[in-house]
Parts: sequence; structure tokens; C-alpha cells
Amino acid sequence: MSFMFEKIALIGIGLIGSSISHAVRRGKLAKSIVGSARTSETVATAKRLGLIDEGFTTAAEAVRGADLVILCVPVGMCGPIAEEISGALAPGAILTDVGSVKGAICKDVAPHVPHGVHFIAAHPVAGTEQSGPESGFAELFDGRWCILTPLPDADAAAVQKLTRFWQALGSNVEIMTPEHHDMVLAITSHLPHLIAYNIVNTAEHLERVTDSEVIKFSAGGFRDFTRIAASDPTMWRDVFLNNKEAVLEMLGRFSEDLTALQRAIRFGDGEALFKTFSEAREVRRGIIQAGQETASPDFGRNKQ
Ligand code: NAP
Repeated sequence: MSFMFEKIALIGIGLIGSSISHAVRRGKLAKSIVGSARTSETVATAKRLGLIDEGFTTAAEAVRGADLVILCVPVGMCGPIAEEISGALAPGAILTDVGSVKGAICKDVAPHVPHGVHFIAAHPVAGTEQSGPESGFAELFDGRWCILTPLPDADAAAVQKLTRFWQALGSNVEIMTPEHHDMVLAITSHLPHLIAYNIVNTAEHLERVTDSEVIKFSAGGFRDFTRIAASDPTMWRDVFLNNKEAVLEMLGRFSEDLTALQRAIRFGDGEALFKTFSEAREVRRGIIQAGQETASPDFGRNKQ
């Protein structure tokens, strides 16, 4: 039997690393999967769950002989790990990642990529608020987009192979520059997380409404923000530290629009409020039509 890859090395085996493993097994895309993580507990759990055939305590050991290496660690760790594994990467291997920010990762990783190794950054736009090796599932990437951000000198055959890999994991693939990726994700992912973290903290610090009232009456809308705000703090700290410019630009626009809504409420401008809310409703319809969400009312409480 011929496989797309002989040996895939997962560096970091959390939600994304473990989901890749499940989907690789499902599609029979690799002869073997090996991995490393920061702690020996995660490596042991990954072995016990059958996510990896062999586990290592260092990333450098894990990548030896692998023809595909995927960095599935927090954004800020990609550069230091690339430096660590640089001398151990096999010639001809594809080195990729799954980080939620692309400009900073390309800048941090590229200098450590040896000649003959093909570095192509990637970001599967799929996830949940869960983390760790037990949270992954094979269907995570089905019908979702994976964005590749190859540098101008990237090897075309390697880009094609990585495209086929993500398609085999169930995703649609789009190619764009790292800078454009960071701008798009700033509004579609990073800002929504910032808003969710902020509203949950605002509710937490109120004096005239108790915490138990916030929890009791959360079905009014608040609980959907808490799902997003339950995401991993390390991952999100790294996203904001590494996509500063695009996030600040989107935050500026958001604040202007919020001020306009504030004015409309203050001056009783129902027409402006109705127009804004109607336009927003259309966006939701568009997302459902594009197959990126279902219209079922339990949004956010299922895995998909
Ligand atoms: P996760 O569940 O928290 O897993 C992170 C993994 O990285 C863990 O296995 C952790 O090891 C390992 N790790 C952390 N620091 C490390 C280090 N210094 N050396 C080696 N391994 C290290 O995170 P995740 O959700 O899978 O996210 C991983 C990446 O995917 C991030 O870059 C994130 O931006 C991106 N991403 C996430 C989502 C999402 O929704 N979660 C979606 C798309 C992309 P231990 O378990 O031993 O600590």
C-alpha cells in the first residue's frame, strides 16, 4: 500500500495535533505518525490513545526521518522549535504549521529552514474551545477552510502536495499571503475572541448584578460569548502578541462602529439600529448558505 507520507511528525499534540492524527488515520495518509509535546504526560496520553506510534521528549528527535513535520504548538513557540529541529530535518521534507497567525510565524521560522526542506505555513480555520490530546476528532476539518501562505520562493510541488494533504483531511484549501491572512483572521477570529474575553470579564466585575444572576440568565446571549472565552489562554495570548497591527486596525474600526451604535441608542435613533441589525442578520444567512454553519438553534453547543 502506498501512503501520501511515510512518517508524519506532530510537534505538539493538543486539539489540532490530535485531530490531524485522527484524520490522517481515517484517510490512511501516513505509514506512521510520531510526536513530541512539552510534557511527558501529553506524550503518554497520545500514545495511549493511539494518536502516535512513537513519542519523543524532544522535537528534534521526533522529526528525524519524517517527510512531513507539522508544528501544532502555540504561535510563539514555532520560531524556537524551528531553531531546535533545524539540524534534524530530513532533506526533501515538508515543514508546516497550524498557527492562527501567519506573518509572525513565517518571519520566525523561515530563517531556520535548511536548504532542501520545504517550508509552507498553513492555518486550518477550524477549532473548538477545547484543548489537549483528548479533545481532537477526525471530523474537525471536514468542510472547513485551510489557508496556506507559501512564501514567494516556495517549491510548487511541495505546495501542491500539502494542498492535497489538507484536502484529504476534509478541508477546502485557499492560498494567500501571510499579511492578507492576518488581516482576514483579525476580523473573523481574533477580534471576536477579544470581544468575548472582554464581555465575560465585564460581567464578572459588575457590582449591581451578581455572578450567579449572570450565570442563571445567561441563555439571553451571554453564554455564547462564554464558549469562545473558554478558549486556551496561552494560545490566545500568543495570537494577540503576534498579530498586533491587524488586530489594532480592526479594533479601531470596531470602536468607531460601536460609538455609532452608542449614539443611536442615546438619541433614540431606531432607524439606525434597525438598519445595522438587519445588515448583520444577512451576514449570518450568508454563512449558513456557504455551509460554514447550520441554522439549528443549538449553535455553538455541538462540536461542529
Ligand atoms: P493545545 O490543545 O493547547 O495544544 C498545544 C500543544 O502544544 C500541546 O501538546 C502542548 O504540549 C504543546 N506545546 C506547548 N508548548 C510547547 C513547547 N514549548 N514545546 C513542544 N510542545 C509544546 O493547542 P491547539 O488548540 O491544538 O493549538 C495549537 C496551534 O493551533 C496554535 O498555534 C493555534 O494558534 C492553532 N490553532 C488552534 C485552533 C483552535 O481552535 N484551538 C484552530 C486553528 C489553529 P503539552 O500538552 O505537553 O503542554
